[in-house]
Order: sequence, then structure tokens, then C-alpha cells
Amino acid sequence: MPPGRLLVVSGPGGVGKGTVVAALRERLPELAVSVSATTRPRRSGEVDGVHYHFLDDGAFDALVGSGGLLEWAEFDGWRYGTPWAPVGEALAQGRPVVLEIEVQGARMVRSRYPEAVLVFLVPPSEEALRDRLRRRRADTAQQIDRRIAIAHWELRQAGEFDHIVVNNRVEQAADAIARILAVTPAVPRGPRHTGS
Ligand code: 5GP
Repeated sequence: MPPGRLLVVSGPGGVGKGTVVAALRERLPELAVSVSATTRPRRSGEVDGVHYHFLDDGAFDALVGSGGLLEWAEFDGWRYGTPWAPVGEALAQGRPVVLEIEVQGARMVRSRYPEAVLVFLVPPSEEALRDRLRRRRADTAQQIDRRIAIAHWELRQAGEFDHIVVNNRVEQAADAIARILAVTPAVPRGPRHTGS
């Protein structure tokens, strides 16, 4: 099996990474979508093991300590990370893998997998982002303001990414990312699970 390709979809929280990745998966059923670990409390409607692996601080520390995370970062007071094993397995099977993660994590992926392709999804406007965060009803007004402030910082990091895609229409954004993935080279030497 040829090794797979690694795609990172990043961008401000609320920009619609999950929706765009779901549309991308319809186009590419073999695409493996990484399920992150997080210390954030579960929102209503979220399922443990499907949306995230919801961990307490001790379990997250253990995962970091054992080298079980490909990358991790703190975001708005909670920790989020990508479990390495399922990503390594999918890549070894020759499947493309997508990580939906924030900017600091994307940087860490770049340093470990320089051949990974980094896509930055941007909202058509700040108002659109605010609307999405409001409609999600998961955050209080104060949390939304905090996330908008983080988004301003994140948007300034867009230049580090290989591609910038505007999420105006989900289908178009997914098409654009599918085209990017089609010309993405494979990760040459398989998973780099160093265990440290
Ligand atoms: P939320 O709390 O809204 O689900 O996620 C907050 C931010 O963390 C979003 O930008 C989301 O994409 C990002 N995130 C989710 N999983 C991971 C992960 O495994 N690693 C990193 N670095 N960020 C993540």
C-alpha cells in the first residue's frame, strides 16, 4: 500500500471546519477523519468517541506523557490533541487523513510532517463567524467575544498556510479542498510515531 496523504484543515473556531470536512468526506469516502481528545466538557448533542474523546486532565496528561499525541494545544482554557495511533494506521493503509485543528496544532503538524498540506479556512466576514458561533448556541455571549478575539489572532496567522479557502458556500469550499488533496504528495516514510 502506498503511504497516505495528510491534510490539515484549520481556521478560527466556528468557521465551519466540521461541516466542510463532512462534505469533503462525501466526495472521498476513504478519507479518515481524526477524532481529537479534549478536556473541554461535552456540549449537548456531542457523542464521546464520535465528536471527541472527552478526557479529564489526568487522562490527557497521561496521553501527552506517553507520546500518544501527534500534536496538542490549549484553546480558550481547554486542551485538544490528535491521537497519533489512528492517524498512523490510516496513513500506513494508504488512506488520506484529515485533521480539523486550530492554528498552534497545525504548526506542530508542519514541524513533524513537513509534507502535510495545511489549509486555512476563513469566514466570508467577521459577522458571518459571529452568526455561526451564535447559532451553535454552545457558547455564552462572553465566550463568543473571547472566541472572536482568538479568531482575530488566528486570522493573522493565515500566511503560514499552504492554501486559504473562503467558506462562503460549503460545497464550493469542499470542492476546493478536494482539488488540493488530489495534488497533495503522500507522506513518504509512513508514520513517525517516536513515542516521545
Ligand atoms: P471546539 O471547542 O469549538 O470544539 O474547538 C475549539 C478549537 O479547537 C477549534 O478550532 C477546533 O478545530 C480545535 N481543535 C479540535 N480538535 C483539536 C486537536 O486535536 N488539536 C488542536 N490543536 N485543535 C483542535
